Amino acid sequence: MTSLTEFALIERYFSHCGAERRDVELGVGDDAALLRPPVGEDLVAAIDTLVAGVHFPPDAAPGSIGHRALAVNLSDLAAMGARPAWALLALTLPKPDELWLEGFALGFGALARAHDVALVGGDTTKGPLCITVQLLGHVPHSSALRRSGARPGDALFLSGTVGDAAAGLLLEQGRLALEDMAAAKELRARFAFPIPRVALGERLRGHASACIDVSDGLLGDAAKLGAASGCGVQIEFEELPVSPALLRAVGAERARHLALTGGDDYELCFSVPPARVEELERALPRERWDYRRIGTLRDAADAVVTRGGTVMQFSHSGFDHFSS
Ligand SMILES: [Mg+2]
Repeated sequence: MTSLTEFALIERYFSHCGAERRDVELGVGDDAALLRPPVGEDLVAAIDTLVAGVHFPPDAAPGSIGHRALAVNLSDLAAMGARPAWALLALTLPKPDELWLEGFALGFGALARAHDVALVGGDTTKGPLCITVQLLGHVPHSSALRRSGARPGDALFLSGTVGDAAAGLLLEQGRLALEDMAAAKELRARFAFPIPRVALGERLRGHASACIDVSDGLLGDAAKLGAASGCGVQIEFEELPVSPALLRAVGAERARHLALTGGDDYELCFSVPPARVEELERALPRERWDYRRIGTLRDAADAVVTRGGTVMQFSHSGFDHFSS
């Protein structure tokens, strides 16, 4: 079998991977896909590349790689308050390994169907393992959430817990050892199978003044939201939400440091004007939507972490892809 035929087989492999959608006029198989976005809505587009050895361990389970490749894009659309709809996949593989492809398609397909995302096109190339996913979605005209809408005095909120995925990756890399197997399993899953906050993002439209997803580390990403809005952020160290598993694994102090600087959690960090916080909490009950206040936007240019009124010092503010 020539390698060309093998790669053609892969493409057929992905033709029924995602959800079936009525607004896909033409999906995989032609030169390009034909899609019908809803009338009156803005098209929202995001793209993300995962490189083996940079964004995931090269020997990571293929199901996890497939899940994460889509999850990181779903998280970006969640941060815009958008509803995901169509995905395109560019897959670069050293060789067409059927077992790997089956696992990858299972992980990608399960998450795609859970969010009603159709896989409408793709490309496969031979080369070092690398996955690019482009995700398209839509949002009612002019109602998308942005990073730039926050004002000094706005309350800063965060969904879920952070730091878990960073600990999960440390475990995966053998840089953290843990006797508590249940905690280890939970933390590993947070890295391998992140749950993007798509439903929360959509519900935040009309409530949040600004929003960003936490992919590179809370402190750095909150600072990006602040910078885009022309303000600074203040985060209260003691208010950082950390999971029981992370607390058991590394203790309260290190857990909160991981919460600030670890990446890959894909939670949402958002601001709400003080006069509208009550309305938010009424519309989105915390017990159901799982978020908490972690700080405040301030009339300054930097991001600070405070503990009992004192500003803490940090050597770096998150994972920088180009720093090492
Ligand atoms: Mg993002």
